Amino acid sequence: QSADLAGKKFAIATDTTFAPFEFRDGSGELVGIDMDLLRAIAKDQGFEADIKSLGFDAALQALQSNQVAGVIAGMSITDERKNIFDFSDPYFDSGVQMAIAKNNEEIKSYAELKGKTVTAKRGSEGETFANSIKDQYGFKVKALADSATMYDDVKAGNSVAVFDDYPVLAYGVGQNNGLKIVTEKEQGSSYGFAVNKGQNQELLQAFNTGLANLKANGEYQAILDKYLAKTE
Ligand code: GLN
Repeated sequence: QSADLAGKKFAIATDTTFAPFEFRDGSGELVGIDMDLLRAIAKDQGFEADIKSLGFDAALQALQSNQVAGVIAGMSITDERKNIFDFSDPYFDSGVQMAIAKNNEEIKSYAELKGKTVTAKRGSEGETFANSIKDQYGFKVKALADSATMYDDVKAGNSVAVFDDYPVLAYGVGQNNGLKIVTEKEQGSSYGFAVNKGQNQELLQAFNTGLANLKANGEYQAILDKYLAKTE
């Protein structure tokens, strides 16, 4: 336990619909790998986490304007973000992938995106990746705020594809969400817990210590298994 943090309460922002990392279960409870990890780390380190389900871009903005102390949102540790945020040790390896509607037989690779519109989450690594190849393949990128809305946009045919993190796409496809994956994963970054650069360093340290403790006592693996066992 961290003596400095004992009994302290921290507002921590997250995404809205990013299963299996954060989502609402049948009874409206916020659950997922990030939520369970954060709660277990808070318990281990003796602080309280007041979780705010804001959306990804909104969470990053809330952190930058000091409305929250930290963000846990399947947030990739990127060099660009390291200019403004400090990240915990990585806790999950991820990366970007493309998905299309299950009944789409036309798109087999990025080449068939020519002249079409794809969607990606505002402020995400998926959006950065899509933008990085859009001129080469001749497609447009439409930014939306959350994964559920992006997937609906593809199913409705307004966007022909979505670029999102592959563990999230795989989980959704495994739940029969109406999408399918036809291309390879792209190289991506690992997820970390973020605080503003130079701020809330005790909280960051407590996250790292708690994470190491959960890895050592098996709880970290148990959390992953709880959400991923069925889709891996
Ligand atoms: N991992 C991606 C990123 O950090 C997406 C995170 C998310 O959509 N919650 O940009």
